[in-house]
Amino acid sequence: MEISTFEDLLYHYPYRYFDRTQITKIGAINSTTEYVQIAGILVNITEEGTGFKKRLIATIYDDTGRIELLWFQGAQWMKKTLKENERYIVFGKVNLFGGYYNISHPEIELWNADTAIAGRQPVYSSTTKLIAKGITNRSFAKLTQALFEKVSSGDIPEILPPDIIRQYNLCSRYAAMRWIHFPDNDEHEQLARHRLKWEELFISQLMIARLRLQHTAQQGWKFGKVGAHFNDFFSLHLPFELTNAQKRVLKEIRQDTATGKQMNRLLQGDVGSGKTIVAVMSMLLALDNGFQACIMAPTEILAQQHYISISELLEDMGIKVRLLTGNVKGKARKEILAELADGRVSIAVGTHALIEDTVQFKNLGLAVIDEQHRFGVGQRARLWKKNEMPPHVLVMTATPIPRTLAMTMYGDLEVSVIDELPPGRKEIKTVHRKDAGRMKVMEFIRSQVDEGRQAYIVYPLIEESEKMDYESLMAGYEQVKIWFNENKYRIAMVHGRQEVGERERNMQRFVKGEANVLVATTVIEVGVNVPNASVMLIESAERFGLSQMHQLRGRVGRGADQSYCILLTGNKISEESYKRIQIMVSTTDGFKIAEQDLAMRGPGDMYGTKQSGVLKFKLADILLDGTILEETRNAAQLLLSQDPSLSQPQNQPLKHMLRHQGKQSHWGKIS
Ligand code: ADP
Ligand code: MG
Repeated sequence: MEISTFEDLLYHYPYRYFDRTQITKIGAINSTTEYVQIAGILVNITEEGTGFKKRLIATIYDDTGRIELLWFQGAQWMKKTLKENERYIVFGKVNLFGGYYNISHPEIELWNADTAIAGRQPVYSSTTKLIAKGITNRSFAKLTQALFEKVSSGDIPEILPPDIIRQYNLCSRYAAMRWIHFPDNDEHEQLARHRLKWEELFISQLMIARLRLQHTAQQGWKFGKVGAHFNDFFSLHLPFELTNAQKRVLKEIRQDTATGKQMNRLLQGDVGSGKTIVAVMSMLLALDNGFQACIMAPTEILAQQHYISISELLEDMGIKVRLLTGNVKGKARKEILAELADGRVSIAVGTHALIEDTVQFKNLGLAVIDEQHRFGVGQRARLWKKNEMPPHVLVMTATPIPRTLAMTMYGDLEVSVIDELPPGRKEIKTVHRKDAGRMKVMEFIRSQVDEGRQAYIVYPLIEESEKMDYESLMAGYEQVKIWFNENKYRIAMVHGRQEVGERERNMQRFVKGEANVLVATTVIEVGVNVPNASVMLIESAERFGLSQMHQLRGRVGRGADQSYCILLTGNKISEESYKRIQIMVSTTDGFKIAEQDLAMRGPGDMYGTKQSGVLKFKLADILLDGTILEETRNAAQLLLSQDPSLSQPQNQPLKHMLRHQGKQSHWGKIS
């Protein structure tokens, strides 16, 4: 759990409390009950099944009724610890099964668990693995309690400057730590939460503000002129009229790269909004000023697609474009490397292979990063070293980012937005269908295929249930092969377990139109462009997140034909899944969807940010804590304007903290 010091333990906050004054009577549980805390006597502890399917069942009752408790994992250990005929307090999610309510994997503890601190008992997250070893949320409580018996206020010193503490009415850090773990009343808990959220957001805002200071001071290559490449392309080779949004963004990029400072710009634009052409024209600008440019995509398939479309766009212009990915090996690779190093190649298209140390540019002036959330921050940072001065960086993303999130994640970047789709696009028709209607759905897809269109059928793949998901993918594939007579139609399949070469061959069959239907997991989520595809069928859509469904839907509707997105779900789905599906059916606006997604899901696992560590807030919720976010932003800016290098004595603890956090999350390296 990444807890190795007492400090780590302090930061492992409880996510709720057992409050003995908040007990629901078992008889009062009904179909609207979601989570419930009950108390009663435990009886009938029995083990059922064998081996893999072993589970533990127990009944708990009070004076109004009884309910079953279930454990599928750690049954062995639970059986050893639970005692019949003892009084327990239980918390968990109520399920309805076969007409009866039950709670699986509840939090459970003896009613009279010995405790030195009255009031609410903290409940900590643990893992099934730890629980199976007997380290429950109760163990964490005991450890933390023991810790607080040994520490005093001097051990948890203040880090915020006194002025800020006073101005924003924050409680001390020691008090906050104590109260978040063992609140003696509501007020103290609130004070503690507020203070700790404030601290979290303040530190992140301070980091962003400092990065921004650094960026704005960073010298960059000056793209002083718009030259022949750009102008020729614009007047002779541009295959369509640019949208106003595209023109505006290009202007922003031109102005930004002409200042002599390094550009760090985020380009947001919904799927299909036409970011590629903006990237291409920005690269031409670099060429006009005597520089090379590169564009980096997160997957081999995307890199290839970019290579093909960019080569086509620039076909008659005598510009040398080359593809460099992990698959380019041996002699071909050597040649490209040589051409990049001596400047014969002007535009390099590739994957992360581009940032390997062996790749030397003669004079790289602009690096474009497509679908950036797939790249680790460290990888991006390596681009900086590709020239004496860092190249300009244009980061492109199709995942629209709500304002509060942008402020937090990209507060150090300039932002451009393409908020307009190219004209003539037909809105994708999105419908919700249930399993019971599967036959009709398949018939519909077949009719589309008969008209010469292609279709995607996408299956969920969730880490936790990977094995089962693969099984249902394979079963689905077999079914599709039966549905679509194999002699008449060609079905391809791609998924993450295939070896890269095989996956790409299958993908290419679909891209080239050789396969009518592509059965896939979400590996196709990002960027793939097959304009002839007109149907996106999402299987078990209830299991997908909103942004993910939106990305998938963006794979169709790229040609002139009417396109369809079918969200296929089980016959019964949860209210929350239903809500997500309804949002998808009601809008195709990526920004609206992103906002709803953020609201429903929280920022934690959006945009791959978990992995980058940028948004690892333990308590703060940038959506709900907008006020604190604004406060901390103002406070951070004020502080830096008074003490830009944080050298005054009262700011030393903060400076120390920043250094510490910077190391943990690679903050300094976000391009
Ligand atoms: P994304 O922003 O998702 O990367 P692309 O750059 O792949 O979008 O563009 C999607 C499609 O729209 C491409 O086929 C592209 O040629 C086309 N396109 C881009 N801009 C325009 C425009 N201004 N007018 C017409 N078609 C355009
Ligand atoms: Mg794209």
